[in-house]
Amino acid sequence: MEPRTVLTLIGFCVPRRAEKSRLGTFFSGSGKETTVPANSMEELVSLCKRRGFIFQGSEIYGGLQGFYDYGPLGVELKNNLKAAWWRTNVYERDDMEGLDASIIMHRQVLRHSGHEATFSDPMVDNRKTKKRYRLDHLVKDQKADVVAKVAEGIGESVENFPAVVAALVANPARASEALIAAGVRDPFSGEVGDWTEPKPFNMMFRTTIGPTADEDSFGYLRPETAQGIFTNFKNVVDSTSRRLPFGIAQIGKAFRNEITPRNFIFRVRELEQMEIEFFCAPGTDEEWHQHWLEARLSWWEAQGVPREKIQILDVPKEDLAHYSKRTYDLMYDYPTLGYEEIEGIANRSDYDLGSHTKAQGELGLVAKVEENLDSIAKLTIPHPETNKPVVPFVIEPSAGVDRAMLAVLSEAFTKETLENGSERIVLKLRPHLAPIKVAVIPLARNREEITTVARRIKADLQKLGLGRVLYEDSGNIGKAYRRHDEVGTPYCVTVDFDTVGKGEDATLTDTVTVRDRDTLAQERVRISELANWMRERLR
Ligand code: ATP
Repeated sequence: MEPRTVLTLIGFCVPRRAEKSRLGTFFSGSGKETTVPANSMEELVSLCKRRGFIFQGSEIYGGLQGFYDYGPLGVELKNNLKAAWWRTNVYERDDMEGLDASIIMHRQVLRHSGHEATFSDPMVDNRKTKKRYRLDHLVKDQKADVVAKVAEGIGESVENFPAVVAALVANPARASEALIAAGVRDPFSGEVGDWTEPKPFNMMFRTTIGPTADEDSFGYLRPETAQGIFTNFKNVVDSTSRRLPFGIAQIGKAFRNEITPRNFIFRVRELEQMEIEFFCAPGTDEEWHQHWLEARLSWWEAQGVPREKIQILDVPKEDLAHYSKRTYDLMYDYPTLGYEEIEGIANRSDYDLGSHTKAQGELGLVAKVEENLDSIAKLTIPHPETNKPVVPFVIEPSAGVDRAMLAVLSEAFTKETLENGSERIVLKLRPHLAPIKVAVIPLARNREEITTVARRIKADLQKLGLGRVLYEDSGNIGKAYRRHDEVGTPYCVTVDFDTVGKGEDATLTDTVTVRDRDTLAQERVRISELANWMRERLR
């Protein structure tokens, strides 16, 4: 007798059979008893490595701190996430253009953007261990009584942490004494450190350009993608005839020589950003700021990151970046880390275009900018009402791809205890994000009549353009299901003996079993209807 269909082979998650397996029958009942989300970063890190989402960069040489590589499934998830962002922010709007600017930029760009002078974090060294830390991170991670003593030592209230950091930076000698007197410990040694005075540390990576290594032939790896948008503002306006308001979107790598990269892909030195610079008439900026706040929250929701897990921080004045009039930070509740920034939505006023334009004096700029005698372009656009040239205000929603990956994975990670007591890990990713959309599994990998049909189904589904479809014959079916639950594959399609007319039930010829990742329900679907079935569910 031929082996029975897939249902009897599942092992770890046998669904209850509602009735005899006839075409179109659902095998009802999920068999699930309890469900819990990811509660620690370790669980996620372990899954990411085990299943090929994310690896430490340069791992075979001991790893490079702050650099990560995205593996076979990581690259798919990342591409899907970026595509979802592009779809919503470029294709589904009528006021956006796209751009892909170069990563290495002219020194003058980063000088006039203000980054050369101000893109720095305060750092302190421990003379005993020779370890270097970002001041605010070092203090924030101490025990509460130590933080309180630091605040007292520098004469600030512990309730206002940004003010404590600002005071430490402003009074370096007193800061060093305050850190030592408060007993601030070195996270490396666990001992109280002998702390130096805080010093600014510029986080931009420099690189030489061309064969001569003299002082003038260097450029910077951009620390944010934004500057490529500002320097191309005139090109985009001239080539598209855009009028205000409109935006330019870009996804790309940015580089920050973080003093203390940490928490997996949360704080890295090579990161990717999805940024919009939205140009609007001065005076309409606050309204557009609110618009983008709402638009971004609903995008996160559509990726499976609910509003209840995001707090909106109206960044205090003393903590604003040098270009910002007002910034909302979206703070997501990461497992283990708690609320940390996932996206910043800044009102950059007319600072950036004002800094990069020539003839600054004639343009009535609102922001305080440094004099620019290097730029050869006038970065203005006609005002929508007066038609007079104006430097527009800019609203910038800026999200990190890596932090988005971490949030999406955290939300999707679920542990379920099944009725039979066994446990499964399942990544409940939204289908549009899933790295593999469908796994096509031949029940017997050495039976040509089955593998031929399975390969044809794989090829046909692949042509639908829904994303990656995988021909899966790497193990027994129970293991295949377990693997695809863990990597978030929404549907597994099994080709069995019934499919090829060699089972017990002739009515099942030319049908396959489709298993739903979340409900565990299994349905017999005609091969001829499979494309539409998938299209409806995976769009
Ligand atoms: P933080 O305060 O956490 O250092 P930031 O305020 O410097 O972040 P922005 O300059 O506003 O960050 O950058 C926009 C987005 O880019 C952030 O919201 C974050 O998602 C991402 N991002 C910034 N720095 C890093 C980093 N080192 N690693 C990963 N993502 C980052």
